[in-house]
Amino acid sequence: MHTPTTLITGGAGFIGSHLCERMLAEGHRVICMDNLLTGSVDNIDHIRDPKFHFVHHDVTEFIYVKGRVDYILHFASPASPIDYLRMPIQTMKVGSLGTHKALGLAREKSSRFLLASTSEVYGDPLVHPQPETYWGNVNPVGPRGVYDEAKRFAEALTGAYHRFHGVDTRTVRIFNTYGPRMRLDDGRVVPSFIGSVLRNEPLTVFGTGDQTRSFCYVTDLVEGIFRLLMSDETTPVNLGTEFELSISDFAKLILKLAGSELPIEHRELPVDDPTMRRPDLTKARALLGYEPIVPLETGLRNTIDYFRSRHIAAESNA
Ligand code: UDP
Repeated sequence: MHTPTTLITGGAGFIGSHLCERMLAEGHRVICMDNLLTGSVDNIDHIRDPKFHFVHHDVTEFIYVKGRVDYILHFASPASPIDYLRMPIQTMKVGSLGTHKALGLAREKSSRFLLASTSEVYGDPLVHPQPETYWGNVNPVGPRGVYDEAKRFAEALTGAYHRFHGVDTRTVRIFNTYGPRMRLDDGRVVPSFIGSVLRNEPLTVFGTGDQTRSFCYVTDLVEGIFRLLMSDETTPVNLGTEFELSISDFAKLILKLAGSELPIEHRELPVDDPTMRRPDLTKARALLGYEPIVPLETGLRNTIDYFRSRHIAAESNA
């Protein structure tokens, strides 16, 4: 039987590395491509499958892959606010030039192409929850614009390759996702709060903490992505969870789960920080039968355990 080949750009990143494992489990040969700017070999080091191949490459440069490629999952990009504020040009380049190269390869190889897009395309949304039909409220010249506009451009380019070149495309809009293999220093709220607990420092809540997010465990997201990849849906689909809570309540939950009584300190709210965010999952449910199943407390306990074990390992090596 033919063994399908899947190329995963950003395969050494947080979500990318979980996708590598999932596609291997589906019996695919997996080419993991990453420039290791924000990804890490630590995320893929444990993979022993002979069908797994790592290629150190920056996808903003021409991509060459020998032989057939059945699926391309385009996940390369800095993805946390402090990363894309630190690397604004690389963020814009990977979303634009990198998506162009990955789509060019999909056209050349007749691969099915899946774009990792984001809830950030909705900006600071004025419609709540956010359905895929909402066009968003993005500040193109604000500090987050480099990520938001790069991903909006990537969606437009993916649509153009689909219509003009007939490339078989999928687009997933990923909402806040958490789990093992996030970087402890990536600045996002989950590693930030857990990192504070591990270092015995106050939790830093930005602004009033009334802003909301809906947090999805990585295995639920990966299941949705796989279902979307195998579906016929070529227009964007939201994936995440509908369980929404304020960042203040989220800080309290982390403290409760970690058995900690550390104080909460407020810091200045970053520019253009979305006031609320929750996916409308009607489309994902109807088309993919998608239903996230990991309760927030369970997922967070796993994530705390992961960061705790790495923290202890780092301390004993110091
Ligand atoms: N946040 C916070 N403290 C932190 C890190 C983040 O209060 O140490 C807030 C941030 O301002 C935002 C929310 O938590 O309102 C989620 O931030 P994150 O960077 O995880 O992702 P975003 O959803 O903003 O892309």
